Amino acid sequence: MQFSNLERLGWNDEVARIFEAEAPGLDPGRVTVHHRGLWEVATGDDDVLAEITGRLRHSAEPGDLPVVGDWVGLRDGLIDAVLPRASKFSRKTPWTEVAEQVLVANVDVVFLVMGLDDRDFNLRRLERYLTTAWEGGATPVIVLNKTDLAHDLERQLSEAETVAFGVPLHAVSAETGQGVNDLRRHFAGNMTVALLGSSGVGKSSLINRLLGEKHFRIGDVRADGRGRHTTTHRELVPVPGGGVLVDTPGLRELQLWETDDGLDQAFVEVAALVAQCRFSDCEHRTEPGCAIKAALTDATLSRERWESYQKLQRELARLERKLDPKLQSEARKRWRAITKSHRHRRKVVGH
Ligand code: GDP
Ligand code: ZN
Repeated sequence: MQFSNLERLGWNDEVARIFEAEAPGLDPGRVTVHHRGLWEVATGDDDVLAEITGRLRHSAEPGDLPVVGDWVGLRDGLIDAVLPRASKFSRKTPWTEVAEQVLVANVDVVFLVMGLDDRDFNLRRLERYLTTAWEGGATPVIVLNKTDLAHDLERQLSEAETVAFGVPLHAVSAETGQGVNDLRRHFAGNMTVALLGSSGVGKSSLINRLLGEKHFRIGDVRADGRGRHTTTHRELVPVPGGGVLVDTPGLRELQLWETDDGLDQAFVEVAALVAQCRFSDCEHRTEPGCAIKAALTDATLSRERWESYQKLQRELARLERKLDPKLQSEARKRWRAITKSHRHRRKVVGH
């Protein structure tokens, strides 16, 4: 089989290995756009518009249906398998019930874009983005944009460093191009890169710089009379020189979702302090031997950072309570059944 173009979209030995295990005998492809009930899949030779098989439709929970970035197995031009995701970014659906909506899968690296103009530069927001990136399972890179508008770049960089904890930090200007080429190294090895950041921080401008061409963004989406959207471009775009950019609209409104350890990774030093408290159930109020209180007193931990940690923790706890545990375990069971049936098939096919 010829995968030369699939490699440009991130296909590698690891994906090949998982594909062989989960979807043997199917044709591989990667979802580049998701329309309602229809997926555009790049197969290496071609871009095909595919539906999913009835089998997949009936066996998969909504969260398991293909999304942009997913590796899928095609059977006779229909999507019959979705590979387990190495990473994913989800959001709460805007209705009252908490339901997971996966926006994009298999992102390797996220550029957390923040503007250096005073309006946008905000360490608390950066902490939030870092938490989101870790929870999605991707590697964060901090991109401070608009160096040309920065009043006090030195101070802002050192402030950003206090929350970055070893995460690569770039200061760039999408306007002048300064520093943008340094970002290219994060695409090495055909990495899939997504950009997160508030509206107006310069994500589109950066994407245009990185692609070196005028790239059509989602602003070009047309709604036809029935309210169905037709995109005029892929949301997974090969970058000249290697790698893939994810340019999907929903990522903008991304909220915290998972309740895993992303928070602790974004707040390593706070998590380390909590671990030093004398009591494992310390509430960091009046307990003796509280490492948090001590650190706040001698100012090795700033009050803002502690409050930010607590706020995010409360949000995660609230989300966790809202999640329907029964629904989750159902989804897990079904997924296990799917992978089991694949395993069974592999045995049959293999011998
Ligand atoms: P997005 O909403 O994050 O995609 O932001 P855009 O790329 O649309 O940029 C928002 C505005 O900021 C536009 O007017 C851009 O021209 C401007 N902009 C983007 N990057 C820079 C930069 O590095 N310096 C300056 N001065 N303006 C920028
Ligand atoms: Zn404590």
